Amino acid sequence: MGRNVLVTGGTRGIGAAISVAMRDAGHTVIANYAGSEEAAQKFREETGLNAIKWDVGSWEDCQRGIAEAETAAGGPIDVLVNNAGITRDGMFHKMTPEQWADVMRVDLDSLFNMSRPLYEGMRGRGWGRIINISSINGQKGQMGQVNYSAAKAGVIGFTKALAQEGAFKGVTVNCVAPGYIGTDMVAAMPEKVLESIVGGIPVNRLGTPEEIGAAVVYLAGEDAGFMTGSVLSINGGQYMA
Ligand code: NDP
Repeated sequence: MGRNVLVTGGTRGIGAAISVAMRDAGHTVIANYAGSEEAAQKFREETGLNAIKWDVGSWEDCQRGIAEAETAAGGPIDVLVNNAGITRDGMFHKMTPEQWADVMRVDLDSLFNMSRPLYEGMRGRGWGRIINISSINGQKGQMGQVNYSAAKAGVIGFTKALAQEGAFKGVTVNCVAPGYIGTDMVAAMPEKVLESIVGGIPVNRLGTPEEIGAAVVYLAGEDAGFMTGSVLSINGGQYMA
């Protein structure tokens, strides 16, 4: 059965792969993005999907964006994929309040800003799926990413708590924790650092965005109704939580 799906940060990288996989699974997909117009336009042309710009770190923007997305989808959103995320790396002793606040706002506040308005409708209709993209670094911690690791660990706590509230109302809440995936976010890392990371991944390669998309399709499906509050680790065996 086709559902209305909203993917934040859905025009690039992992988000774009999720959008395409969900479209191919028969859903109506609306992708959100922050401001990279060129990437968004390319995404629209290549996928035929709708892409709408707003800042998921802003409560007011999310109210407007969600209304626009529901109009574009022709009905309420049944599946929310909280994928948008940023990094602002640096060792903690040099980390600025801005680096901390930016990551908290986009990677964690966004879950409240997006889920709070949509969850109420899902609960009322007795069916919904919220799928949050965390990270291996939210599970194990990562040097140089105290802000990101804290936000992504927060994503896991959010998932487990809301899953308990939503379960008897037909709303499942799950989380995917990817390891290192070949996207712009990872391409931004210094080559030497990346080499040493790949060396520590038992399958000896980066993951692909499509491998995350496939997991999200499963979690969004009818068959996944008994799965809630879970953290799906997709990391090539780098960390077994
Ligand atoms: P990318 O940097 O490739 O893409 C990020 C996406 O998020 C873009 O579409 C971007 O929009 C959007 N975005 C960023 N900030 C905002 C904002 N304030 N409001 C709305 N949209 C925003 O990231 P990845 O695809 O690599 O990562 C996707 C998710 O997966 C993130 O949550 C990340 O933390 C997580 N992750 C990634 C891993 C990896 O190895 N790549 C590993 C583990 C987790 P725009 O194009 O307009 O900038």
